[in-house]
Amino acid sequence: MNTLFTADPVRAATFVTDGKLVVFPTETVYGLGAHAFDEKAVEQVYQAKKRPTSNPLIVHIGTLTDVLHIAREVAPLAKLLMNAFFPGPLTLILPRHPSLPGIVSGGLDTVAVRMPALPLAIKFLNAACIPVVAPSANLSGCPSATTWQSAAEDLNHRVHCILCGPPSTLGLESTVVDCTSELPMLLRPGAISEEQLRTVIPEFSTTPPDEFRSPGMRYNHYAPNAKIRLIENPNDVHPNNSSGYIGLLPPPLISQFKMCRVLADKNDYSHSLFEFFRDCDRSGIKTIYCQKVDQAGIGRALMDRLIRAAKSTK
Ligand code: AMP
Ligand code: MG
Repeated sequence: MNTLFTADPVRAATFVTDGKLVVFPTETVYGLGAHAFDEKAVEQVYQAKKRPTSNPLIVHIGTLTDVLHIAREVAPLAKLLMNAFFPGPLTLILPRHPSLPGIVSGGLDTVAVRMPALPLAIKFLNAACIPVVAPSANLSGCPSATTWQSAAEDLNHRVHCILCGPPSTLGLESTVVDCTSELPMLLRPGAISEEQLRTVIPEFSTTPPDEFRSPGMRYNHYAPNAKIRLIENPNDVHPNNSSGYIGLLPPPLISQFKMCRVLADKNDYSHSLFEFFRDCDRSGIKTIYCQKVDQAGIGRALMDRLIRAAKSTK
């Protein structure tokens, strides 16, 4: 299929309303969107990114009240989290509305909901006038796309339209919180930190999520073609013409790496990580050394992605 590239959110919205696939920007990563109530369109999302249909999708809304069309009910604690963090990089798991197709949620009776903060994403969603399912706009298992060019690298000719917006400012996916039981449970660390969540909801379930509650845990994620080596100390590296380095401290013999990124802080590191992985693959690098970070704030999500990328190495 031919892919249309546009900067016009209203034009892009006509495709999604029509049951077609549209890549669009958000502040976390780019999303691969389809009409949430059109089963055929949702099926195509799984096919386009080669995602197993048992790994459910996040439904994106442009207006808070749209949550009532996709969730059966919104518990008081979910309302608190929505008031504090919507629009923004937080996804809530709620009971699924009976009229929302089961394929959206991989057959679960729950649904994941997020309202992105990026104004261009909101314009697109509100012009579409429907809730839009959107997993990250990358081939399953690969690093998420944080620019439209990276999304096009994976999905050109597999989607009908790409809404070309700015690079994602956060660069890591949303935090996922399950609100379907008495105590909320953190299913995926993300751009909203646990410390931020606790300012609103002091008590979280301490049981670690299992793969029934959080199906995403079953699958490989975020892996470039290069091997990922996690290191504590920037001296533990072998710089050469086929290795890369990313971290907060400069490694020795920095000029001998084929590619190197030294970031000012954990936010910059998070913002740069997936694009750096893709740049390394583009230049044929075989090994990427990634400096570990502490788990405070965004550090928890960043370490989660680094560990999964290292485990998923192809
Ligand atoms: P991605 O599409 O790459 O942003 O990933 C979406 C994440 O949300 C995956 O980890 C999914 O497993 C998770 N998710 C989506 N819907 C649900 C749900 N109903 N219950 C639990 N996790 C979900
Ligand atoms: Mg993803």
